Amino acid sequence: MLSGLAAQTASLCSIAALCEIFMNPFTYSRATDVDQAVAEVSGKPHGKFLGGGTNLIDLMKMGVETPEALIDINRLPLAQIEELPGGKGVRIGAMMRNSDLAEHDLIKSRYPVLSEALLSGASPQLRNMATVGGNLLQRTRCYYFYDPAFPACNKRKPGSGCGAIEGFNRIHAILGQSEQCIATHPSDMCVALAALDAIVRVRGPKGEREIPMTDFHRLPGDTPERDTNLQPDELIIAVDLPAMPFATRSHYLKVRDRASYAFALVSVAAALDLDSNKTIKAARVALGGVAHTGR
Ligand code: SF4
Repeated sequence: MLSGLAAQTASLCSIAALCEIFMNPFTYSRATDVDQAVAEVSGKPHGKFLGGGTNLIDLMKMGVETPEALIDINRLPLAQIEELPGGKGVRIGAMMRNSDLAEHDLIKSRYPVLSEALLSGASPQLRNMATVGGNLLQRTRCYYFYDPAFPACNKRKPGSGCGAIEGFNRIHAILGQSEQCIATHPSDMCVALAALDAIVRVRGPKGEREIPMTDFHRLPGDTPERDTNLQPDELIIAVDLPAMPFATRSHYLKVRDRASYAFALVSVAAALDLDSNKTIKAARVALGGVAHTGR
């Protein structure tokens, strides 16, 4: 009995020691307006906004993301979709859930490529949680990035090397890669947004600014640890879709290993402007699964 208790105590001690080594302490706060959210993250370069959490929480469990602070933005009034004045397009709030956006009448009728892209991504349960802002910020699914036990990943640990270049790289980039990193961006939604010339609206301590979708993500270059051109203290508040009448004739096609649930090996978002003779007057085409940005 005594030896059993001693063994139990020893095992509790070792769990506590392991927790100390592997658990990352962080603060949690909940913002109720955009300015408060921006103020909360200001001065915390390793702070993160928490939306649906479908990617961030996974990465925290794996020890890949170790934020010092989580600012919950689920109560921000950013889950709406509205028409821009003067028929200039549509504004989508950053907290709109992927499933709600995919099924919205404005999107299905005017930008079917976006609805199809959203419905081809993840599972229904994940789409019910995932937000537009979070989809933009999801991180690569490179196997080496996700496994902190693997030593070489420049995106996870700058200067450590790249396991994928000489490793298993069937899902990796064929355009825009560097000697540091060959990761792709995993989003389907972003491919459609690139084809639609979307604008990402962000708010920081100095006010709002707009980032064209094709400039939002970065090619890896020498700094693969930086995925986007968003600053650490900036919050995505909306995505604007410009009016594009011919986008009513658009389509998203995705090739993947499993039709039920898998990231793209390659995908294409295309919108065509045809005249009455079915001659192409204009075309918008974006590829997915082949690079880290739509540029
Ligand atoms: Fe890391 Fe990029 Fe190499 Fe993957 S491709 S192992 S993310 S550096």
